[in-house]
Amino acid sequence: MPKIDYLRISLIDKCNFRCQYCMPDGTKLNYVLNQELLTNQEILTLVRDVFIPLGFTKFRLTGGEPLLRQDLVELVGDIARLPETEDLALTTNAFLLADLAQPLYEAGLRRINISLDSLNPETFDQIIGNKGRTRWQQTWEGILTAHQVGFNPLKLNVVIIPGINDTEVLDLAQLSIKRQWHIRFIEFMPIGNPELFGDKAWIDSEELRRQIRQKWGLVESNIQGNGPADVFQIPHAKGTLGFISQMSECFCDRCNRVRLSADGWLRPCLLNETGQIDLKTALRNGADLIQLQAQVERLLLLKSEINFKDRDSGTNGTYTRTMSQIGG
Ligand code: SAM
Ligand code: SF4
Repeated sequence: MPKIDYLRISLIDKCNFRCQYCMPDGTKLNYVLNQELLTNQEILTLVRDVFIPLGFTKFRLTGGEPLLRQDLVELVGDIARLPETEDLALTTNAFLLADLAQPLYEAGLRRINISLDSLNPETFDQIIGNKGRTRWQQTWEGILTAHQVGFNPLKLNVVIIPGINDTEVLDLAQLSIKRQWHIRFIEFMPIGNPELFGDKAWIDSEELRRQIRQKWGLVESNIQGNGPADVFQIPHAKGTLGFISQMSECFCDRCNRVRLSADGWLRPCLLNETGQIDLKTALRNGADLIQLQAQVERLLLLKSEINFKDRDSGTNGTYTRTMSQIGG
């Protein structure tokens, strides 16, 4: 089991998109009330006084859509300035990024992951549940602005869904050839609304690699991250292709992360909440931070026994939480 030193922090469970695989139309989502969201000060206290003393050095801000959070730039600055922070990253849908890329960069953010499932505006709008004027263009501008501002690495997350965007694997992979962009294909996980796409909604990473190999060839990259992706490269491409294959290949033994939900629950695994801790209530009740550290340490020990495949229906039914609610 690797050292667990990576905290993913969900800043908000709301989103300006309704991706079919994450917040499908018709799913009733009970959003966390504003007063139940962790405040910036609470997040900073947890990071600085609970997680860093336990050896955490890597932090990712996510959601829901983190760019919807009004005080995001301040929080980025606060975490980036902590001397123990080795790695601070953000995951976003990029719709609001054109205006925010520069302030985020100036606040100290250097790494960004952007979700982009299609290069075709119509397919894109279908996936994100948009019924009005296309949102693809503004998203693409957000991506280009992040590139110009200097975010490096810039990673694009893609979920391939059979019958929807599976014809675009090569077009998306091609983005890695001329630019130093890292395209990461994530297998769809049956979270939140598993019935949506029938029995087998994901395409195995190996099938995607086969298509890419046939067209350009594919070699293992020497840039391997510290996450779950297996990283490859089209020969002579500037960027890389990562494959996150949680459905076809279990990588729990490599997992180095825990997740903090927007309402302050610390959970050991995406699909398993055994032993989860309500850190927000503890903080608001004036808990001793050393005792909180001890509680978190126990959760980290427990994590080594938990496996993604042993999906747990959860103590309070939160297995039905979507990725936007858990923090993807
Ligand atoms: N809104 C931001 C975004 O879309 O990048 C951040 C939150 S989103 C939940 C984080 C990532 O989770 C996205 O890359 C998204 O594609 C992925 N995701 C959401 N639901 C998923 C599912 N059921 N299976 C696999 N990936 C999923
Ligand atoms: Fe929103 Fe991200 Fe979920 Fe899409 S994947 S609905 S952008 S939180």
